[in-house]
Amino acid sequence: MIVLSCPHCGNTAVIKFGTNRSGTPRCRCKACAKTFTRSPKSRVMTPEREALILGALKERLSQRGIARALKVGRQTVRAVRKDVIEKGRPA
Ligand SMILES: [Zn+2]
Repeated sequence: MIVLSCPHCGNTAVIKFGTNRSGTPRCRCKACAKTFTRSPKSRVMTPEREALILGALKERLSQRGIARALKVGRQTVRAVRKDVIEKGRPA
């Protein structure tokens, strides 16, 4: 059995509290009533993903098409384009 402790107060009286929008379980501490994600996933852009977006942009695919195909937000595609192409940051 996995002993789960609250990241806020360290108490082990923790109950399941649904899921977040990506499906990862959320938990709630019975002692301090705060909620937390058990094992949160990093949402940082990986260099591989950025390279995929850049490759697709160089093929002149539409930004909306890239966002749909790679399952990233439209703003993510725009941010990568702006960062690398317009500001000249080396990819
Ligand atoms: Zn707590």
